[in-house]
Amino acid sequence: MPQFDADRDAMLARAHEAGIDTVVAIGSGTGPGSLDCAIQLANREQAGEPRIYATVGIHPHEARLATDADFEELSALARNSKVIAWGEIGLDYFYDHSPREVQRAVFVKQLDLARAAKLPVVIHCRPSADSQNAWDECLEILRQQWAASGLGGVLHCFTGLMEHAGRALDLGFMISFAGNVTFPKAQNIRDAARELPLDRILIETDSPFLAPVPHRGKRNEPAYVREVARQIGELRGLPAAEAGYQTAQNFSRFFRLPPQGERKVPIPSQSQGAAR
Ligand SMILES: [Zn+2]
Repeated sequence: MPQFDADRDAMLARAHEAGIDTVVAIGSGTGPGSLDCAIQLANREQAGEPRIYATVGIHPHEARLATDADFEELSALARNSKVIAWGEIGLDYFYDHSPREVQRAVFVKQLDLARAAKLPVVIHCRPSADSQNAWDECLEILRQQWAASGLGGVLHCFTGLMEHAGRALDLGFMISFAGNVTFPKAQNIRDAARELPLDRILIETDSPFLAPVPHRGKRNEPAYVREVARQIGELRGLPAAEAGYQTAQNFSRFFRLPPQGERKVPIPSQSQGAAR
């Protein structure tokens, strides 16, 4: 994302210093024309930075821009060894930046391409205000058109109800929590983070969006994922570093990557202003 153009090196160094060994960079970028952005990041391989993997995919926001040439480009990029998932793909009925029937068609098309590429999918799902519409549609599409692939995926930035998380678990998905798990009003997200099986949980930042408390309102960055680990730990009675370590192990296991090392950088148990 261009939000990091001025300090990308320093941002990645801060992430490594904060104890982050591995990152998956989401490759939706700003849409067609930047579909290889996460692969470029993954190709850095700099000492003192996290190991970076990539995804490719067209976000539902940009679904209306997708052409056949873009789909061909995505399938070619998906063969890159750094690419471990296809996404973010899905439905966003909150912003409706693309017509819903176009979002659905581009979602289903990319499920077909991801299946051909043998990659799990990273799902973005956001319903209209005060509605669960996109969850119901998205999970039904996944049940009908994806579950049989056996490839599973990640529900990223989970904001739904336990019922939705449970349906996703049944379809072989991991549930990923972002900075908004720390927001005071997000009790439904914390309920899910407390109750789901620990071995099915991932943590993320959704940088540059959704900076967790106590950084809320600022640009988010990977180092702040510590605050998500802290919140998950508090909810589950675990030290924050243990919550971070366990979710990192889940990541390696799900994506069949080498296991995480034993490097556990301490995370202080208290943060000012964390959600209660
Ligand atoms: Zn998203």
